[in-house]
Amino acid sequence: MKKIPKKSGAAGRTIRNNLYIMGFAWRICPERVLCCGVYFGLDHFEYLFFSGFFMKKVLSLIETGGSLKEIFTFIGLTAALFLLIFLFNGWYQNLLVPVTDVKVYQGLYRTLYEKAGNDDLACFENSDFYNKYMLAMADSNERLIRTIDNIWSILIGTAAVAISWMMLIRIDRWVLLFVAGPIIGNFVFARALNKLAYRIYEESMVFRRIADYVNRVIHLSDYAKELRMTNIFHVMEKKQKDAEAGVTGTMDKYMAKNILLGWGYLYFTFVVIFEGVIFYGAYRTLVSHAMPLSDFAVLTTLMTSVSWILIGYTKALLESMKNSLFIQNLKDFLSYEPTIPEDWEGVMPEKEVRSIEFRNVSFAYQPERMTLKNISFTLKEGEACALVGYNGAGKSTLIKLLLRLYDPTEGEILLNGVNIRDYNLKAYRSLFATAFQDGKIFARSVRENLLMGQDNPQTGTELWKALSMAGIDSVIKASANGMDQILTREFDPEGVILSGGQTQKLVSARAFAKDAPVQIFDEPSSALDPIAEHELMENIKRCHASRAGLLTRRCHTPQDDSGRILLLISHRLSSVQDMEKIIVLKNGRITEQGTHAALMEADGEYAALYRMQAEQYKIDRLMKGEPAL
Ligand code: ATP
Repeated sequence: MKKIPKKSGAAGRTIRNNLYIMGFAWRICPERVLCCGVYFGLDHFEYLFFSGFFMKKVLSLIETGGSLKEIFTFIGLTAALFLLIFLFNGWYQNLLVPVTDVKVYQGLYRTLYEKAGNDDLACFENSDFYNKYMLAMADSNERLIRTIDNIWSILIGTAAVAISWMMLIRIDRWVLLFVAGPIIGNFVFARALNKLAYRIYEESMVFRRIADYVNRVIHLSDYAKELRMTNIFHVMEKKQKDAEAGVTGTMDKYMAKNILLGWGYLYFTFVVIFEGVIFYGAYRTLVSHAMPLSDFAVLTTLMTSVSWILIGYTKALLESMKNSLFIQNLKDFLSYEPTIPEDWEGVMPEKEVRSIEFRNVSFAYQPERMTLKNISFTLKEGEACALVGYNGAGKSTLIKLLLRLYDPTEGEILLNGVNIRDYNLKAYRSLFATAFQDGKIFARSVRENLLMGQDNPQTGTELWKALSMAGIDSVIKASANGMDQILTREFDPEGVILSGGQTQKLVSARAFAKDAPVQIFDEPSSALDPIAEHELMENIKRCHASRAGLLTRRCHTPQDDSGRILLLISHRLSSVQDMEKIIVLKNGRITEQGTHAALMEADGEYAALYRMQAEQYKIDRLMKGEPAL
């Protein structure tokens, strides 16, 4: 897996990151970005106009003996202007913001989900990557919006600060000294507070993830039985408590620092400027009589505006520094280049699969441990092959390599003589109909669970046939809505909950329902009763042998005499004995391969396993008083 680029720089990175996110927001919703600028511009204009210009103008009109008409005309025009600004603000806040919020969230999440969906399967088994993903997702929608606000706040704030300082200098330049209060408060203390908050968040992320996992396990129905029937709940509860202690411990570690910085922030940001200006202005007006009362009045209103503009401005600056750290995670996540992206381009494979070849394939999930070692075998068109071996031998891993969920560490896999890396990934994967060992049911209808979004859907009759071959048609027929019956009760109180075996049957039906040249069944019958298992295995083989199955469009064409390849993983050796090829895997290596007869004659591991199973099977049936099948 490629490394995620490291974080670098400080100020430059903050600017780059914030501009990056502004560009990102602009591509999703330019109207929001523009109107946000207008909103902030008007907001700052309002502050400065009222406290600096309006007050001064009215007082000077009074001082210079201006007429009441003049004064009220000015006040009336100001009121009209403020009404227009008020109307714009109302439209922006109540109409544009809610609508564009949704647009921005949707755009952002679509990008994140598309990216996550395009990343390697291996990424989701890598905790570093997963932490980045979680950090990128955490509050990312709010952060995106806040970044737009912040950037405008900084741009408009810079102009507003400059204008307000000029206004202050014109009244009394020494007043500017008090502005240092919020500057120190925000740039020194708030900045340190922000950094600390991020450090606490980052350090506690690992504990939060554990707590999230436990929460999920406790409320998901998948785990409900084990939680009730075993003591695992207490184990999980302990994990949860440890995680909570981890979060609290991280907070405790930084508590004193947090309190000290918080005090510094409040003192410098508010106390210094407000108290300072009042005392200074009052002294200059009342004691030294160097400042007229009107200037003192203007100064106090202007000071309030200036301090709030400055607080907002510095806050926005600090917020963008803080956001920059989160944006970096988002950027890292979005710029991560998967080794097998879902949109992998390449040549389009032929519709027929004549051969699949593993050539000296080795594979390691982790560098130090090879899971598959030097695997070589060939499957020909029309062949049915069984993969057998002990748990953990590497059978499912081999299938994952064939489906290009992972790439081999060494060696190559060829389909019709071409390295599978050279094929267009989507088109390549569409050649396979798969029933995974741990196949999942989605909270959608039976039909959608069978078709799984296929572009070229089967007809209703073909879908019913698929259900029948998997032995689950009667259950679906008996449900209230047949093929449209919603599965699970996640969203529908009338939803049907399938048993473990029924779920496995539906997963197999999925593979029957796909018109693909290679069919893969990974342990399709582990949860089935012996009769159902026998019938399913027979149907898998029958479907393969006759090529009829569901493939009415292709298989019933007389001139089309090509066959499908079947790959079946099974622990039940009696059900694979009539297959053309049996591959025995042990500790990641192929130890034997051939027909059942050849392997029995070789009298190796397979033969020993087969005899042991046959013996056990006879004993089981005798114990139950049943005849052998
Ligand atoms: P079973 O018959 O139990 O399904 P299998 O033969 O299909 O087993 P695999 O699932 O291929 O075996 O696993 C082979 C080995 O690879 C096991 O030791 C397993 O622990 C390891 N393994 C499987 N998936 C991963 C993974 N994502 N990351 C690391 N190791 C893995």
